[in-house]
Amino acid sequence: MNRLEGNVALITGGSRGIGAAVAERLAEEGADVVLTYEHGAERAGAVVERIEARGRRALAVRADSAVPAEVTAAVDEAAARFGRLDILVNNAGVFLVGPLEELGPAEIDRTLAVNVRAPFAASRAAVRHMERGGRIISIGSNMAGRAVFPGMALYAMSKTALVGMTKGLARELGPRGVTVNLVHPGPTDTDANPADGPNAETIAGLTAVGRYARAAEIAATVAHLASADGAYITGAAIHVDGGFTA
Ligand code: NDP
Repeated sequence: MNRLEGNVALITGGSRGIGAAVAERLAEEGADVVLTYEHGAERAGAVVERIEARGRRALAVRADSAVPAEVTAAVDEAAARFGRLDILVNNAGVFLVGPLEELGPAEIDRTLAVNVRAPFAASRAAVRHMERGGRIISIGSNMAGRAVFPGMALYAMSKTALVGMTKGLARELGPRGVTVNLVHPGPTDTDANPADGPNAETIAGLTAVGRYARAAEIAATVAHLASADGAYITGAAIHVDGGFTA
């Protein structure tokens, strides 16, 4: 399918996991792709190579999502290098969990900076470049709907904030032809949550389908929202979680 032919997409945190899968899926559908990373230059480079091998343009930019100026610069670089920006995927996230007493100001600031402020800052920067048909898609979490284990409060709080941002921006940007949506993955096999990790069996058992997602299964829904097929979906939070929140 070439649903995204001629589009340019920026994915934050695209060096591995869900972000890398989204980058590759959007490229497969015809988009040129810019991805950001914090530490994983080599892995980001490998994603770029795989996309270029498909005949699409790709670029990896080091940009710490915790630093708004770096996020804004990455957005502007994407638009400058590839001449436009159609799709923003706010994917980079941190997962700082633990008992309330152990989550102090440093953990709170880091979580809110990467998981909340960065999507807002990136959206603000991206919309300056977007024309009608633009797409803002953020990656939330099943934990926003069901904080199933103790220790999840900070992370769940950060992902729930994206619900409000998504609804607010959908209202604000709808008249400008830009849709804004949120995808809540369930347990997905990545470095952050490996399907063979110590608690994986318990976690998989909390889904209705009894297994982890592949990152490509999350990317498929992002591609739908990014394409013209998703044009009438905005302000939505879509659970791609195998029934975790059912
Ligand atoms: P991974 O830890 O596997 O990958 C995280 C990605 O984000 C990497 O590319 C990493 O870059 C990048 N990143 C992290 N911090 C920053 C930062 N400060 N600045 C720029 N890039 C950064 O995570 P997942 O793929 O599992 O998660 C992706 C998203 O999906 C997150 O928002 C997460 O909360 C959400 N999610 C994941 C679930 C899961 O089960 N995996 C379930 C529900 C939601 P680098 O390589 O440079 O470190």
